[in-house]
Amino acid sequence: MGNVDYTKYSKLSPFELKDNLIELAQSRTDRLMLNAGRGNPNFLATIPRRAFFQLGLFSTTESEFSFSYMPEGLGGYPRPVGLQSRFDNFVMQNQDKQGVIFLGKAVSYVRDQLGLDPDAFLLEMVEGILGCNYPVPDRMLRISETIIKEYVLREMGIQGMAKQNLDLFAVEGGTAAMAYIFNSLKENKIISNGDRIAIGTPIFTPYLEIPKLNDYQLEEVFIEADPKLGWQYPESELRKLEDPSIKAFFLVNPSNPPSVKMSDEGLAILADIVKKRPDLLILTDDVYGTFADNFKSLFAICPDNTILVYSFSKYFGATGWRLGVIALTNNNILDKKLAALSKKDKKELEERYSSLTTDPASIKFIDRLVADSRNVALNHTAGLSTPQQVQMVLFALFNMMDSRQSYKKAVKSVVRERDAALYRQLGVEVPQDPNAVDYYTLVNLENTSRTLYGDEFADWVMKNKNPTELLFRVADETGVVLLPGSGFGVLHPSARASLANLNEYQYAAIGDSLRRFAEESYQEYLKTKKGKK
Ligand SMILES: *Cc1c(COP(=O)(O)O)cnc(C)c1O
Repeated sequence: MGNVDYTKYSKLSPFELKDNLIELAQSRTDRLMLNAGRGNPNFLATIPRRAFFQLGLFSTTESEFSFSYMPEGLGGYPRPVGLQSRFDNFVMQNQDKQGVIFLGKAVSYVRDQLGLDPDAFLLEMVEGILGCNYPVPDRMLRISETIIKEYVLREMGIQGMAKQNLDLFAVEGGTAAMAYIFNSLKENKIISNGDRIAIGTPIFTPYLEIPKLNDYQLEEVFIEADPKLGWQYPESELRKLEDPSIKAFFLVNPSNPPSVKMSDEGLAILADIVKKRPDLLILTDDVYGTFADNFKSLFAICPDNTILVYSFSKYFGATGWRLGVIALTNNNILDKKLAALSKKDKKELEERYSSLTTDPASIKFIDRLVADSRNVALNHTAGLSTPQQVQMVLFALFNMMDSRQSYKKAVKSVVRERDAALYRQLGVEVPQDPNAVDYYTLVNLENTSRTLYGDEFADWVMKNKNPTELLFRVADETGVVLLPGSGFGVLHPSARASLANLNEYQYAAIGDSLRRFAEESYQEYLKTKKGKK
């Protein structure tokens, strides 16, 4: 590598920097590239997928039944009459198939545990998987919405909220949720150019980048988590939110990349702040909530102030499926903010939504999200594709029906064992923290140097070593791609590794290579020390 100027890479977003690192890591053909930069998990839930494909076959046969004298390959809408008994037969005849067994149990569970109409459920699933109708209602299929509400309430630690008080919008993953929310907040004049927005850092980079775009031009105020507090937000940082000029607080909880959930103390402070600032809007991205122990979302603490984003991508290993939801209570402050807009703004918005209803002023924010997601004019084709909604329901049911939580325990222990392997090879104690989720880990350059070779060496590293160099050296020498913490708003030099997408021995290799880098740097440090004497 010689005298490469690493500073030229410092302006790249971590995702572009990653491309450069990958190129370098792949530059030698005799080895495997290890990309620990990606958040994409390498595990996935199989049983709900088996169930999906089995249901697809059953439903296709149902469609073919509906026109008995039609030419081959042509089916009709599935017929509700007798559907349940044909399904029962199908389940009985396929007791050797895991996916079918699961489907049979799912229908019983929906009836007995959730108290829903099993016939209506089955018909919604069969029609949904065939994808033979536009999504109606466009926001989310009716029974699917009820089931996902139950899943969200349980997994986000929300107690004492009636399902009727909750509205969901099924979307194409967490990223679509973000894009839709930013857009509708702006279109509905809840957030305007130049407004001040607080962002909990470190954070998934799009939250840093989108507000700065020309479309938004928001002023960002950082609420910085402190590595010395196990990446919790110090009270003094959270109290910044009491400033009434701050319109909204965006955060990822559990965080990405530090991968810790907000502590109970932090949640309590926010509850107190919201009491003083009932107008404060919170957007919480809880994609990793399902990996945490005893998770409690801010949506559980201040539900009416909060927009909840959840994605099925990470926990079910389903990034390609594009499955996510946006949740709002039906007493949320967004609708109150809409009601409080100026006459002129209201008039403008009534025009915007006038094609949808005769009373556009009454359209709730969540339904505006739906309409805006298709530029209003195409609202009649809005909504997540119905087969996607079916897979979402099967994922959620799989998790709810697993009373021993064996899937959850398995994915949690997978990431935690990988974490342990990395730190064991690095020669540093694994950070112990009840709030840790361990989907990612941030290897802190300073602390690691201090632990391995003492304070003086750590100071020398901070002065003389460019953290980007570490990433490029590691990529060049070992084929391991890590991302810089800095791109995510981490202030201390660090390398971020996803614990979700490689195998355990590869995390050990990452630990090894980081340790080698530290050892070499230590030799260099000793030489310069000698030279000075
Ligand atoms: C991965 C990730 C997303 C994206 O989720 P998709 O559902 O795959 O679009 C959103 N937010 C955070 C914090 C993530 O880490």
